[in-house]
Amino acid sequence: MKHVSKPLPPYMKTENGELWLTEDDRENLKISYRIKDIIFSEQSPFQHVMILDSYDFGRMLVLDGVVQTTSIDGHIYNEMISHVPLQFHPAPKKVLIIGGGDCGAAREVAKYEQVEEIHLVEIDEMVVTSCKNYLPDVSGNLSDPRVRYVYTDGVAFVKEHVNTYDVIIIDSSDPVGPAKELFSYDFYASVRRALKEDGLMVCQSQSPIFHMDVLKQTYANICQLFPYASIYTATVPTYPGGLWSFTIGANIPLSLPETTSLPSDTKYINEAVLKQCFQLPQFMRKELV
Ligand code: SAM
Repeated sequence: MKHVSKPLPPYMKTENGELWLTEDDRENLKISYRIKDIIFSEQSPFQHVMILDSYDFGRMLVLDGVVQTTSIDGHIYNEMISHVPLQFHPAPKKVLIIGGGDCGAAREVAKYEQVEEIHLVEIDEMVVTSCKNYLPDVSGNLSDPRVRYVYTDGVAFVKEHVNTYDVIIIDSSDPVGPAKELFSYDFYASVRRALKEDGLMVCQSQSPIFHMDVLKQTYANICQLFPYASIYTATVPTYPGGLWSFTIGANIPLSLPETTSLPSDTKYINEAVLKQCFQLPQFMRKELV
């Protein structure tokens, strides 16, 4: 434990010489991580941003005390939120990412040569700079000239764009604070308007174990707005419950091409995962289908 000079935020404590982060955003469940080192810790105008080095998950991005992504499992989430929608679009050229300040999703989208522009709309510039500087396992120090960074509220941004994007990826934090609106019906309606006629969107729709209410509402909103909608899952160890959901809304039928165009250097997704991730466990089918 080296850099413990500043006063610790309330969710970090030292116990017997050990440093611990305890996520305290839930009333009845607290998850703690033993931390080796505080790499970066600053208050931005939007949230408290930390990059921590942990024992089991390597470096992690922590916003207001809640783990967002880590060196060990960030690729699972970022590959699944990016490659799945891109595989359904016949020719994605212009991609919008809302949130996603860790740059992990943009890094995955940039693997597609046919993508010409990637617009990353993140409310908090500090998330992008800290991840680029201190979380290279996730951000890949992304410096692709096709990526345009826009530091503004994603809700306002999509309202100003009509018929513009092939794919929109909503890579938001939990539905609190500035991310709350990113789960609303009105926001998804603006997203649909911002998509081209053959466009599709995906959002992270929280834990089917602990946030079925959020997932149900998100799916209902998207089913109302789009002719085609579907849910898929992946297991992300650092998110509570492990099992995580993503919801797609599309203006085109969700059928995969005969040959997929997945990049060769993925760590989690492959053709078999892509095909089976839409198979929902029984408790989800009962609630959602
Ligand atoms: N993979 C992560 C997860 O599921 O927990 C989330 C990744 S990313 C770090 C989420 C980002 O959304 C944060 O950096 C946050 O600043 C950003 N964000 C929250 N509300 C936003 C808004 N209204 N507009 C744009 N970005 C927003």
